[in-house]
Amino acid sequence: MIAMSESTTRLIHHSYAPPAGFDAPQPGVFKASTVFFPSVAAMRTRDWKQKQGYTYGLHGTPTSFMLEERLCEIEGGRYCLLVPSGLAAIANVALALLRTGDEVLLPANAYGPNLALAEGELVQWGITHQLYDPLDAEDLARRIGPRTRLVWLEAAGSVSLEFPDLRAMVDVCRRAGVTTALDNTWGAGLAFAPFDTGVDISVHALTKYPSGGGDVLMGSVMTRDPALHARLQGAHMRLGLGVGMNDVEAILRSLPSMSLRYRAQDMAARALADWMARQPEVAQVLHPAREDAPGYRHWRALCAPDGGDGLAAGLFSIILDARYTQAQVDRFCDALRLFRLGYSWGGPISLVVPYDLASMRGGWPSHLQRGTLVRFSLGLEAVADLQSDVAQALQTLGEP
Ligand SMILES: *Cc1c(COP(=O)(O)O)cnc(C)c1O
Repeated sequence: MIAMSESTTRLIHHSYAPPAGFDAPQPGVFKASTVFFPSVAAMRTRDWKQKQGYTYGLHGTPTSFMLEERLCEIEGGRYCLLVPSGLAAIANVALALLRTGDEVLLPANAYGPNLALAEGELVQWGITHQLYDPLDAEDLARRIGPRTRLVWLEAAGSVSLEFPDLRAMVDVCRRAGVTTALDNTWGAGLAFAPFDTGVDISVHALTKYPSGGGDVLMGSVMTRDPALHARLQGAHMRLGLGVGMNDVEAILRSLPSMSLRYRAQDMAARALADWMARQPEVAQVLHPAREDAPGYRHWRALCAPDGGDGLAAGLFSIILDARYTQAQVDRFCDALRLFRLGYSWGGPISLVVPYDLASMRGGWPSHLQRGTLVRFSLGLEAVADLQSDVAQALQTLGEP
């Protein structure tokens, strides 16, 4: 032991270590940028890629390793990377797998910022993109060319919630030797087992259901294939996409209740969607578990194969009749009191967003009724109260 006369030094290098063997329902929060090594030899030999030991905060601590393992358990993957947001997960995949001259294909109903990444950064780097019809596997097959390196899939798609024939689309890509990445935020690893569809990568905005609080941003990138994981992990490290351990802890704390929350919000969404479908102001309700929804049979085959109720996220959109102006629809949204105006979903508070679908999709999709689209995400409030809220707001719609 080195003699330390200076009390600040003694304080910093204090020798007390708490007894080992503490065990409690929630794991400890291990925060680090610096990680200590017992010797230079250990420093030289410890390999951050193998995760057999700890090397630097960006490569993980016991807390983040634990979340990665639990997410693998839920989604059925073998390798998991944590990133600062769902969008960072999408970017991690794109930057790891695409280079100048390549092309990436996205569904026409892709999560908007994924397309924005393609239109912004990827184009500048000489990486092109095309949109395919999420309801037509043959359209996807036709668009795959010699430069196609990556195909994004989304089930259900964003905002209009069409449900693709995921297995058929993955088959098309496999036959062409193209890597597939599924944005699995909607299914959350609960509505269906992502890797059973044959996808290579599952990306998840943990911001939504795993967080469940509307207060944490995080994403995950999951694979089963070691070579693919190594490429994603290399880009993850070189881009410095680390996460904060307090945020990881918040997600670990919410994860045990995720399937209860998912089911509760699913039931609430279906009940409210049923009621909405009976309102004269509503031209169409878009929820993949409704028989008239685009891609309903694909949802049923994947998420309710035993003929039961199946599972779906607590999310749906309505198309308000074309006789209402955008200003009237905006006022309807403003009139809602329990539904708050805000992005994201999976949290305790119900949310509403009016979307300009025609400009998002470059025209009004022909398989949808004409009108103005509003998306609802269900929180954990009583459905009867949410229904009364919508009923009082609908009364404002007819006003000039
Ligand atoms: C929210 C969301 C994302 C992005 O997650 P952030 O954490 O907000 O960046 C990606 N994909 C889908 C389908 C989402 O809903």
